[in-house]
Amino acid sequence: MSNLTEIYGSMVFNDHTMRERLPTATYKSLSRTIKDGKPLDLDVANVVAHVMKEWAIEKGATHFTHWFQPLSGITSEKHDSFLTPTGDGRAITAFSGKELIQGEPDASSFPSGGLRATFEARGYTAWDPTSYAFIKDEVLCIPTAFCSYTGEALDKKTPLLRSMSAINEQANRVLAFFGEDGHRVITTVGSEQEYFLISKNDYKQRQDLVLTGRTLFGAAPCKGQELEEHYFGAIRPTVSAFMKELDDELWKLGVAAKTKHNEVAPAQHELAPIFTNTNRAIDENLLTMEKMKLLASHHGLVCLQHEKPFEGINGSGKHNNWSLSTGKTNLLDPGETPMQNLRFLVFLTCVIESVDEYQELLRMTVASAGNDHRLGANEAPPAIISIFLGDELGAIVDALINGTEYKSAEKVSMDLGVDVLPNFLKDNTDRNRTSPFAFTGNKFEFRMPGSSVNLSDCNTVLNTAMSKSLKDFADAMDDASDGEFEAAALKYIKKTLTDHQRIIFNGNGYSDEWPVEAEKRGLANHRTTADALPCFVDKKSIDLFGEFDVLSEVEVRSRYEVKLDKYSKLLNIEVNVMERMVRRQYLPAVNAYASDVADGISKIKAACCSADQSDQEGLLAELIKGLQAASHDLKNLDTLHAKAEAIEDNQKQADFYANEVVPAMEALRSSIDALECITEHSYWPVPTYNDMLFYV
Ligand code: ADP
Ligand code: MG
Repeated sequence: MSNLTEIYGSMVFNDHTMRERLPTATYKSLSRTIKDGKPLDLDVANVVAHVMKEWAIEKGATHFTHWFQPLSGITSEKHDSFLTPTGDGRAITAFSGKELIQGEPDASSFPSGGLRATFEARGYTAWDPTSYAFIKDEVLCIPTAFCSYTGEALDKKTPLLRSMSAINEQANRVLAFFGEDGHRVITTVGSEQEYFLISKNDYKQRQDLVLTGRTLFGAAPCKGQELEEHYFGAIRPTVSAFMKELDDELWKLGVAAKTKHNEVAPAQHELAPIFTNTNRAIDENLLTMEKMKLLASHHGLVCLQHEKPFEGINGSGKHNNWSLSTGKTNLLDPGETPMQNLRFLVFLTCVIESVDEYQELLRMTVASAGNDHRLGANEAPPAIISIFLGDELGAIVDALINGTEYKSAEKVSMDLGVDVLPNFLKDNTDRNRTSPFAFTGNKFEFRMPGSSVNLSDCNTVLNTAMSKSLKDFADAMDDASDGEFEAAALKYIKKTLTDHQRIIFNGNGYSDEWPVEAEKRGLANHRTTADALPCFVDKKSIDLFGEFDVLSEVEVRSRYEVKLDKYSKLLNIEVNVMERMVRRQYLPAVNAYASDVADGISKIKAACCSADQSDQEGLLAELIKGLQAASHDLKNLDTLHAKAEAIEDNQKQADFYANEVVPAMEALRSSIDALECITEHSYWPVPTYNDMLFYV
């Protein structure tokens, strides 16, 4: 391990490096752009570009790239070298301000949902100076936004930045009532990334894992997670070596990787960085995911980032810890006496209102074919959005709604009954692991996002919905005259909390009663992606995005199309892989085994005609019955798949996949999994769950 403080951020063109290397005037003007969102002029960009290039070359870089996030959600890059030939057979290195600020990749092969006509393939990337440039694999990476020739956003970052700007404006209007405006208000995010590590040898033998990222077949392992021994358990040496290399690499990139541990499921792990500005936090998360995949291969491992790589075993999420900050103050910090903290109560009320009002939109942002297997299963939150506040805030909200007096719960000192251990104060909120949107002390934790998702979408919606609530509050307060602010604010809080209290739920989100209760409350429960997506193009959503210039109607519609298309395409691939594996691997394997069993029966009969072979014959009959069932399920899936592919309307196609094809996939899977349990191990053509999840 290297010297932690020395390597940290060494590959990042961060504030420290800028201050050290840029001329003072350039540094000041760039800082203004970063902090206050002021436009950058070309002269400044030219200086920055030159200094950035010199720095990058010193660090071994040979190329630069505009690093961006097209609608596929993963990052894209095209490398250009710094070399410029001089005409006399030699070359110099050059990097201009224009090359830093703007790029022009061919946009035609990125998803656009119909936004980009094929004849106009040009797209532009534009430097996002609010996220630092960094060096990765000898390439200077410049975080950029990506838009079409006509100016529509074609990426995940642009709307996020627009939503950050909206929330800054509205939060400042609210802060002005407290005499605290004039700050750049940002939202902060800390993302907890879960993932699986399995052996590369096992992975390579499974087409489903290679092509779809998850196992489409596999009987439950003999042992699952019931012993609860993996969570926080000692980390096996191979994994530990991987984690150390990962930490080192991330620290160099200025990603403050903080916590690492084994997760609940066997072979599952988690990494959490220290939170930062949402925009940067998302770039960092994408870098982390990329590094995880790459570095796992150095250790004979493969990193699975799918939401549900193994059926019946916990899936992987990416908890989105979210708050608002003025740079100095966390606006969701209740302080010692939250009931007296009016500013906190206003922001809290706005969160509650916005999450209730736009619950469907928020749920939509985490909808994907992969996450459909996770929401509602085992450990993850159900597909219903609700907010957990905990005892103290819950009691405060009740008191505000009912106009009753609030009695602060005294912090209780915990005495562990052992003298050598310190006594400590008990937190007033216990943890609730079943809530999809939980208050955790001074931030909200949105737990629905799946492990593979780009967090831009959910943060864009959170920020925009919150901007709307803050705006409504500020508008209402503008109408109340000065002296009455406090009374008017409390009245507004009382009314808003009363209107939205249905979203608050402190109970067990995994219980069977909750969906019934939630339905009574009128909360949405969209179980599949096909069900969740249509709300994106509702008038209410289009109006919201339009009001804050986050997404235009065409941008919304194109994104909806991209999401639908991706969902159906992924399922199409999964079905193709399933059918191929059944036809070419599973059926032949079971047939071979059945035929050997049959041979054995004949041989035994020839040698000893009175032998009782009822067990062997029973097994043979079971194998043949299983083969028939699997063939039947395969034909059925094939028919439905063809029907799905013939549907032209994208929403109807997605609906058909969700309601008809997915159940047929599940049926085929269970037929094959049943055969796995009765087929002799050496005949089985792929590694099993036992093999993959419990390696050394
Ligand atoms: P948990 O109980 O979920 O393990 P932690 O305290 O470890 O909680 O924090 C989880 C994540 O939340 C970390 O990434 C942390 O940096 C992040 N976090 C903490 N405070 C904030 C905040 N104010 N805004 C956003 N994220 C935060
Ligand atoms: Mg957490």
